[in-house]
Amino acid sequence: MPDARATARSAPAAAPAAAPATDKSRSGPARALERLGLTTPLALALHLPLRYEDETRLTPLREGRLGLPLQTEGVVTESKVELRPRRQLVVRLQDDAGDELVLRFIHFYPSHQKTLAPGARVRVRGELRGGFFGREMVHPTFKAVQDGTPLAASLTPVYPSTAQLPQAYLRKAVAAGLGRAPLDEVLPAGSVPAGLPTLRDALHFLHHPPPKAQLATLEDHSHPAWQRLKFEELLAQQLSQMQSRRERALLAAPALPARPGGLHERLLAQLPWGLTRAQHRVCEEIATDLAQPQPMHRLLQGDVGAGKTVVAALCAAIAMDQGWQCALMAPTEILAEQHFAKLVQWLEPLGITVAWLTGSRKGKARQAMLAKVASGEALLVVGTHAVIQDDVVFSKLGLAIVDEQHRFGVAQRLELRRKLRAQTDDGRPLEPHLLMMSATPIPRTLAMTYYADLEVSTIDELPPGRTPIVTKVFADSRRHEVMERIGEEVARGRQVYWVCPLIEESENDDNSRGTPLSELSNATATREDLAQALPGVEVGLLHGRMPPAEKAAVMARFSAGALQVLVATTVIEVGVDVPNASLMVIEHAERFGLAQLHQLRGRVGRGSVASVCVLLYGTPLSDSGKQRLKAMVETTDGFEIARRDLEIRGPGEFMGARQSGDALLRFADLAEDAPLLARARSLASQLLDRHPAAARAQVARWLGQKAEFLKA
Ligand code: ADP
Ligand code: MG
Repeated sequence: MPDARATARSAPAAAPAAAPATDKSRSGPARALERLGLTTPLALALHLPLRYEDETRLTPLREGRLGLPLQTEGVVTESKVELRPRRQLVVRLQDDAGDELVLRFIHFYPSHQKTLAPGARVRVRGELRGGFFGREMVHPTFKAVQDGTPLAASLTPVYPSTAQLPQAYLRKAVAAGLGRAPLDEVLPAGSVPAGLPTLRDALHFLHHPPPKAQLATLEDHSHPAWQRLKFEELLAQQLSQMQSRRERALLAAPALPARPGGLHERLLAQLPWGLTRAQHRVCEEIATDLAQPQPMHRLLQGDVGAGKTVVAALCAAIAMDQGWQCALMAPTEILAEQHFAKLVQWLEPLGITVAWLTGSRKGKARQAMLAKVASGEALLVVGTHAVIQDDVVFSKLGLAIVDEQHRFGVAQRLELRRKLRAQTDDGRPLEPHLLMMSATPIPRTLAMTYYADLEVSTIDELPPGRTPIVTKVFADSRRHEVMERIGEEVARGRQVYWVCPLIEESENDDNSRGTPLSELSNATATREDLAQALPGVEVGLLHGRMPPAEKAAVMARFSAGALQVLVATTVIEVGVDVPNASLMVIEHAERFGLAQLHQLRGRVGRGSVASVCVLLYGTPLSDSGKQRLKAMVETTDGFEIARRDLEIRGPGEFMGARQSGDALLRFADLAEDAPLLARARSLASQLLDRHPAAARAQVARWLGQKAEFLKA
C-alpha cells in the first residue's frame, strides 16, 4: 500500500480551486466564462486564439503526411468493438480514392457507433499516424456529412480555456462578443503607424483568419493585426501613466533636502559596511527627488540581496531628520517583522521611535501604537498593509515606502494611494513622496520607457564579498543524501531552509486562503523526517496556516540561530534575511516558476559564506520544468532569469497571471516590441496635448477600471 504522504508528494499541481457554485441557475460553461473574466463583449473580443486548426479543406489520404493533422472524408466500411489489447471501437473508412484509414476510440459511447455505422459518410480530423494495419487516427473528431456539406470558410480558432468550458461554447461566445463589442476607431486619422489595420479588422482577422493566412506570422505575433493590438495596448498604458504624471506634477509635497551632518549621515557612519557604488547612486537619485516640492514617484529595483532595505532606511532618515514621518510597508508579516527588527537596531540608537503595525496586532497594543503615530511621536511606522487601514492617522507623513510592491494586491495599492492623498499639513494638502521597491527586474532602459509614470532607480551590483551561490539539481530519490548534507552544514554552524512543494499557489501568505492542507501535511511530514534523520538538530516549521504571532516566533528563533533547519512552505519567499543560512533545499522545484525559484534561492548567499541551493525534482519532468532547472543552474543573474522566464513560458501559461490583471501587459512584449512602445509613447503625448477626448476614449476602452490600477 503506498502511504498517503508519498502520494501527496508526487501529486501533480492541482488546478486552482473552482469558485463556489453560488449561482446554481447558470450553466457550468457560463460560470467558467465568468471565472476567466470574459463577461463583456469587449473582453470576449480580446480573448485571442492560442492557435488555429485548418478545417477549410479536405485532403485525400494518400497526400496526408504522418504525424501531421489532416481533415478528410470517406465512407465507413466496417465498425466493430475489439477487446484486445484493450476494449476499443475500431472503424474503417475508405476515402473517395479508395484509400483506407482506421479510426480508434478507447473512450466511446453508443452515439459514436451510431454516427460511424457502415455506409455512413463522415468527415474526420486528427493526426495521421502509421499504425500496424496502415494509416490510422486515434480519437479523431468526426461528423456525419452529405456530399457537398460546406467546409469552414476560415481557420478555426482554438482558444485558451478551462476544463468546464468546451471550445464550441467558447467559440460561439467569442463570435457573439466580437459582433457586439464597441470597436469603432477612436484615434485621429493618420495617427496609427502606417500599414496597421483598424482594431475591428485586426480582431476579425485574428479570430477568423482566411485559409491562406500566414500562420507563422500569427503565431509569432508579427502579423500587422497583432501589431495593431499591441500598439493599442501600449498606447493606453502610456496614456494612463503620462496622464497621472501630469496630474502629479500639479500636486505639492514637502520639500525634504538632505541636511549635511543629518540623521542619514549618522546612520551611514554607524553601519558595519560602506554602501556599494550602486547604492550610493540610487540614494542620490532619491534624495534629489525628495528635495523637490512635488511628490516623488520612484521605483527602486534591484536583484534579490542587492541591499534595498538600507537604501530605504537612509531615505527615511532624510525625511525624519526634518521631522516628517515615514511609513514602510511589506507584503507579509514575516517580512515586516524583519524590517522592523532591523530598523529598530539601526535607528533607535539614533533616537528614532519606530512603530509596528500589522493585522495581528490588536487591542491595547494597537491603540497605543496608533496614538504614537497620530501624535507624531513615532517617526517611522513599519508594517503590513495594516499601515493603511482606516484607523491609522499620521501626524505628518512625508514618505511612504512600499517593499516588494508587486506583491501587494491591486486593491491594496489603490487604498494606499487614496490614503496618502488624504494627508494634510496645516490645512494645505500635501502629498507624501512615494518610493516603491521591487526585485522583479526589467532591464533599466525598458523600465524607464515603460513606466512613463515612474522614475526608476536600479541597483545593478551586489554588495562585495558575496560568494556566488552554487545550484545543484538532484532527483527526489536522492533526498536522503541531501539530508546528510544538511547534517554537515549544521555541524559547521550554518543554517538551512527546506522549502516544501507548491501544491496550489497561495496568493498572499498572510491572507485568508493560507496554505492548502495537502501542502501543510507534506510540510509537517518533512519536518518529522528531517528531525528523525538529524538527531540533535532543531528543526522548525513555518507555513501559511499558522497564526501570524506563531509565524513570527518561529522566524525569530531561526534568525537567532535557535533553530538550525527551517522547513517552510512558500511563506518565506519574499525578502527574509538570515545571512547565516547557507543551504537552501527546494523540494519538487519543477513545480515552481522561475522567478519564484530565483526569489527563494536569494534567501541564501546573503553573507560571505559559500552557499548552495539544491533543487530536488520529481519525475516525470516536463520540458519546461527541465529548462527552468537548467536556467537556475546556469545563472544567478536576476535579469537573465527574467529573460529566460519569458522565453520558456508559453502563451498558455501566461493566462493565469494575465487574467489577474497583475501582469504588465497582455498582448505586447516589452523586449520584442520596444519599437512599437517608442511610437506609442510619442503618440500618447501628442494625444494628451491635442486630442484629449481620443486619449480618454482609448484609456477607457483598454483599461476601464484598471486605469486607476496602473497608477497604483
Ligand atoms: P534586498 O535588496 O533583497 O532587499 P537586503 O536589503 O535584504 O536585500 O540586503 C541583503 C543583505 O545584504 C542584508 O543582510 C544587508 O544587511 C546586506 N547589505 C546591504 N548592503 C550592503 C553593503 N553595502 N555591504 C555589505 N552588506 C550589505
Ligand atoms: Mg528586500
